[in-house]
Amino acid sequence: MDSKKFVFPSEDVKNYATIQSYDDLYDESIADRETFWANEAKRLDWYKPWDKVLDDSRHPFYKWFVGGKTNIIQNAIDRHLKTATRNKLALIWEGEPGDLKTYSYHALNREVAEFANILKAMGVHKGDIVTIYMPQIPEQIFAMLACAKIGAAHSVVYGGFSHEALAERINAANSRVVITADGGFRRGKATKLKDIVNKAMELSPTMEVCITVKRTGEEVYMENDRDYWYHDLKALPIASHKCATEEMDAEDMLFLLYTSGSTGKPKGLVHTHGGYSVYTSATHRMVFDIKPEDRWWCAADPGWITGHSYMVYGPLINGSTIFMYEGAPNHPYPDRWWRMIDKYGITVLYTSPTAIRGLMRYGESWVNRHDISSLRLLGSVGEPINPEAWRWYHEVVGNKQCPIMDTWWQTETGGFVITPLPITPLKPGSATKPFFGHEIGVVDEQGKDVAANDVGALVIKNPWPGMARTIMGDDERYNETYWSKFEKQKYYHAGDSARKDEDGYYWIIGRSDDVIKVSGYRLGTAEIESAAVSHPDVAEAAAIPLPHELKGSGIHVYVILKAGKEGNKELAKELLDHVAKVMGPIARPEEIIFADSLPKTRSGKIMRRVLKARALGEDEGDLSTLDD
Ligand code: ATP
Ligand code: MG
Repeated sequence: MDSKKFVFPSEDVKNYATIQSYDDLYDESIADRETFWANEAKRLDWYKPWDKVLDDSRHPFYKWFVGGKTNIIQNAIDRHLKTATRNKLALIWEGEPGDLKTYSYHALNREVAEFANILKAMGVHKGDIVTIYMPQIPEQIFAMLACAKIGAAHSVVYGGFSHEALAERINAANSRVVITADGGFRRGKATKLKDIVNKAMELSPTMEVCITVKRTGEEVYMENDRDYWYHDLKALPIASHKCATEEMDAEDMLFLLYTSGSTGKPKGLVHTHGGYSVYTSATHRMVFDIKPEDRWWCAADPGWITGHSYMVYGPLINGSTIFMYEGAPNHPYPDRWWRMIDKYGITVLYTSPTAIRGLMRYGESWVNRHDISSLRLLGSVGEPINPEAWRWYHEVVGNKQCPIMDTWWQTETGGFVITPLPITPLKPGSATKPFFGHEIGVVDEQGKDVAANDVGALVIKNPWPGMARTIMGDDERYNETYWSKFEKQKYYHAGDSARKDEDGYYWIIGRSDDVIKVSGYRLGTAEIESAAVSHPDVAEAAAIPLPHELKGSGIHVYVILKAGKEGNKELAKELLDHVAKVMGPIARPEEIIFADSLPKTRSGKIMRRVLKARALGEDEGDLSTLDD
């Protein structure tokens, strides 16, 4: 497939979409950005409207909807209780063993109010930060929403981190209260979360209270006056299902969340109630053309930004029915996802290329056992999607009917920044065009736009409501990391390198640090890896630069082969030739290294910095988010 010539969606899809013309609305949103966002904000409820849409007086510390009073819960739950959405399903949840729970918006409100009252009774106040370390069970979402409801911020720590990583995050947040569960189910086994929390608490001087949800029923160690079972607290009169939602300033902190740690020590970013509500709901609604009858499945973990913005907040604000699954995609068989899509009539699936590649390995027969024709749209996030995975996702999962929304964004951006809409003609591997209100640049070292198809640094030239406000407790690092490089132009420096083609489509080609300069040519890790994966024997690949006497840098490619394939000299030679053929001779790797696994973050991203450090015998840096 020549990706550059591929055009999708068909006319049918165009007629189905609410937004008929990208260009008109885009131009309007750029001509008057503040009015565009004010109009979006007006779709939401506010206790008190804002005085000013954007305060840009203290760059780079922008404020949105200044003077406005709201709470994200006012829009994610409260306003739905006044309409027929009250009795619509808010959440369908399936546990790994197959147990099922459903909650209407009415029921969700009761759960959240009860949890909120319990937190209050435990002395949680507005402005506190509560740490949440849980498996993917409904209570994880209730806990997040309960914090927001009473004006406490949450810090969700992915339930796969070590006790050291957890303790570090608890301490950074000064959390008094942590919410956890005895464990969760993963590949048929119970994880032991509470044990990890117990160890973390030994390292945390601020910890006072641990609330534990019973999920697995495994025995856990509990201490008097510190540990409480959630179901015990729920049975007490303190857990009333009536709880007023706290009025917050638009700029008050909603949560603290760490980046994935692909490129270095994770950064703890701060998001707020007002701008984030507007941004997540607008992007979710428009990019996925959300309909009242949708059943939305964002197959992420709430421990990452994707889970926060598009599993929980954006969809709930839009009154969607969200689906959540607890466990492994291949348990008990590799058709688990397809079975659930069939069973629950999922209409939109939003996931990552790494998940797609993982399921692709088992072949399409697992998909074809089920009727997944309810799907109307697909989404991708986390890394560039290679054409092999794109095609499989589109053809096998989407039955050639579903456009793929390849959304580029970051923890820092709060929501989608470069993304198609259902009407956008797609080019596999490109996240296509800027979302409304965004001016994106691909620039050189001086901040000047480079020519079409040249590689440069990806920048955002404007503020937007969903932007992170700072790195918690470290304004200076925030300024330094994202705003100092192109200080003069006031550009947000994303840290990714990209190309913009002659049609104005953006192609993310890798992390800026990962771009490989071979004899003066700049090659993207994503492109090299995608070339390697297009060989029929290759399942996954990671490309890194290592110093080379003549070329400056040479390309070294780590390769995981598909099941049953064996790495040997001949195949290595074949792969070198293959990459050179796909990419051009300049991209011929120095070597192919066969590996059984690649170092990845818990969110599924390859940690090239770790491969590089290992190859050079250097310090591996922060490994707290490394998957084992
Ligand atoms: P850290 O900032 O700690 O190194 P991270 O950047 O991996 O970690 P996230 O905020 O979870 O943490 O990921 C954002 C990054 O993911 C982007 O900067 C980009 O490199 C990559 N990414 C996300 N979506 C896409 C996409 N659709 N196409 C290409 N790359 C993507
Ligand atoms: Mg990042």
